[in-house]
Amino acid sequence: MEKTYQIGNRTFVLDQDKAEAAYTAKRIINGRKTMTFNLLPLKYQWAYDIYRVMKANHWEPEDIQMQKDIEQWRSTETLSDSERWIIMMGIGYFSAAEGIVGDNIQHVVRELVTAPELKLVLGRHAHEENIHADSLLYMISSLGINPHECEAMFEDIPTIVKKNDFVTRSSHALRRDIDLTDPVNKKLFAKNIFVYGQCMEGTQFYGLFGMILSLYRQNKFPGIGTMFRYTLRDESNHIKVFRNLFMDLIDENPEIWTPEFREELVETMREAVALEKEFIRDCLPVAAVGLSAEEFELYIDFIADRRLTDVGLSPLNPGITNPLPWLAEMQDIRKEQNFFEGTVTDYQKSSNLELVSDDDL
Ligand code: FE
Ligand code: MN
Repeated sequence: MEKTYQIGNRTFVLDQDKAEAAYTAKRIINGRKTMTFNLLPLKYQWAYDIYRVMKANHWEPEDIQMQKDIEQWRSTETLSDSERWIIMMGIGYFSAAEGIVGDNIQHVVRELVTAPELKLVLGRHAHEENIHADSLLYMISSLGINPHECEAMFEDIPTIVKKNDFVTRSSHALRRDIDLTDPVNKKLFAKNIFVYGQCMEGTQFYGLFGMILSLYRQNKFPGIGTMFRYTLRDESNHIKVFRNLFMDLIDENPEIWTPEFREELVETMREAVALEKEFIRDCLPVAAVGLSAEEFELYIDFIADRRLTDVGLSPLNPGITNPLPWLAEMQDIRKEQNFFEGTVTDYQKSSNLELVSDDDL
């Protein structure tokens, strides 16, 4: 028997029996393993939908003008040491962090999931990390920064080394053929997805994002600020991809969702928040950009709790509200058409898509 199958405005005719068998064989993990990219019928519709949104949000670093940033970077009168430091820090940290995320997607998560539509969206996710890495290269070359100096920051600053170690240790054990029918390994995998999506991209990126965007809000480094806004828009989709992956993984493997495991994940977030605050105190001159240190740290608490509750876990500080609402606004790119001077290339190709429903921040 044949059945029509609809995705957006496209129609496919599928053989019902074969389609049902293919659908049943699709699982987040331990599903049918195949090298063919047989996407139909889609089981994880969200993965395909987010893939489309990500693609419509495509951007290229070179389309963003850096003239004003270059002038500001060279001006010894107007540029303060703190501002220079924040820019160096932002470029240095993200140059390495984007690489770590991309590597985990390609060598851990995309390897271990089995449904093709998940591999599809993860391929795009990895590509966006490449775009982010490339945008940092563009900033480095435009400003004439010594890339080794940026690398050194990542390797030598203890609070960054600790943040780095926190995420990479959750991917070591998964870099080989592991038996994902074993609940112990299922938990390791679920924890990896939680750590990368909710703790790292979802929480630990936000200290530096906040710093760079508060400079941007004062009309400092408009090109860099713009790239970070695009990056943030991408990150909100990455967080969503990992959240959905996590939720469906738990759904399909309910035996791992024990009170002990939930507690372990909440404690992991607690550690992530502590590391981020330590990093902020050690490295980020919050007062120099006109922010209160207390509010800035509260923002990290706020965002961490959003991540926890979004995946069905208890918040660490129930009831707190966002102390920096402007930061959330700055992440909603759709609201403004010309938010920076210069050439704006509109990459949003499809108007019929809901582009980032940003409830994320
Ligand atoms: Fe990224
Ligand atoms: Mn990302």
